Amino acid sequence: MIQEIYDYVKQLQMIDTHEHLPAYEHMREKNDVITEFLAHYFNVDLVSAGMSGKECAALKGSSLNILEKWEVLKPYWEVCRHTGYGQSLQIAAREIYGIDSICAETIEALDAAYQKGFDGNHYRTVLKEKSKIKVSILDTWGDEGFDREYFITANRIDTLIQPRTGKDMLELEQAAGVCISSFEDYLSACEIRLNQYDKVSHILKLGIAYSRSLDFLPATRAEAEAAFLKLLRSGGGYIDKEEQIYYCDPVLTNYLFRFITGLAQEKGMVMQIHTGIQEGNGNILSNSRPSHLNEIFLEYPKMKFDLFHIGYPYQSELGALCKMFPNVFVDMCWAHIVSPVAARQILDEWLELFSFSKISGFGGDYMLIDGVYGHQFMARNNIARVLSGKVEEGLMDTEQACRIGKALLYDNPARIFGIEE
Ligand SMILES: [Zn+2]
Repeated sequence: MIQEIYDYVKQLQMIDTHEHLPAYEHMREKNDVITEFLAHYFNVDLVSAGMSGKECAALKGSSLNILEKWEVLKPYWEVCRHTGYGQSLQIAAREIYGIDSICAETIEALDAAYQKGFDGNHYRTVLKEKSKIKVSILDTWGDEGFDREYFITANRIDTLIQPRTGKDMLELEQAAGVCISSFEDYLSACEIRLNQYDKVSHILKLGIAYSRSLDFLPATRAEAEAAFLKLLRSGGGYIDKEEQIYYCDPVLTNYLFRFITGLAQEKGMVMQIHTGIQEGNGNILSNSRPSHLNEIFLEYPKMKFDLFHIGYPYQSELGALCKMFPNVFVDMCWAHIVSPVAARQILDEWLELFSFSKISGFGGDYMLIDGVYGHQFMARNNIARVLSGKVEEGLMDTEQACRIGKALLYDNPARIFGIEE
């Protein structure tokens, strides 16, 4: 790696395209460091390596002390510590808490240092000072507040296009101020909701590939209306709407997705979409294939689509779509910890496939604050390594490589998401 490039990329201020952090620091749950580090991601590696549900629950619970937890964790830690998730946690332990190696001898000291992070300054220390993040785009589900010192928001449209419970319907009715008795009512409630979202942020987020395919087949309004009326009647007849579980026909979602995308396109919004690997220990991987969206990209040429997670393991497919469509952008959020090697390889490929102006290089995608630090550390390292390779191959000079590094981490996401200086 070329030191000059590494040093430059290391000190850059960055925009973080995607997070799941608590919206305010005081909302962080008080726990121990093992519970925190297993909040998501790394626990999935442990379970796929053979950890039982009971062991996993014990590690996330509060009945064992930190040493007892370490005894349960140790055999799985040994075989998983080199994964991207494991690397990120080790970097956090070392660089935030000064613990070089996580083991039986250090786990108590790590926990003690971690507890000191509940001092009300941890967001500032980790996000601003250590990670040099100007702002993070927080994934949110509604009208809850958020700390504007650290975040802007992306509003989820999942429940608008796939209402699954009476609670979803009630929340929409209340937020939009519409009593929904017909499909027409539902569509106008969605429109009002989108206008409300647009006042807070013009970024939308769709994570629906966790529950169905991204293959949105065309549907007529009549088909959608029939499906909507079937949905309203599917609620089990409870007087209490909160308890209703709906059957949402895919046809309805297919129609609503186009309806919302059309409105969002008119407003000049940008839509972040989950593609590729699904978090957790079981799902349908192919539901999230980026090429399922191909026709949508054709139908909505002015809608900006920001496709997440390098589409792993469909990253070359995602690259081809990004090369073809001016309205498709790629986002490396989550990617550097899912597979550090795949993230480097695909960045290497993408830089010679399409304009580097279409790549956002980092999104932490963490629920735990310390993970964001570990992830950005790995992202900067990956980007610097790939750019160094381009200089060594003679494709560009160091100055150009540094310019691209800044574009990936700051200029591109600032432009794509309309983030002002
Ligand atoms: Zn996410």
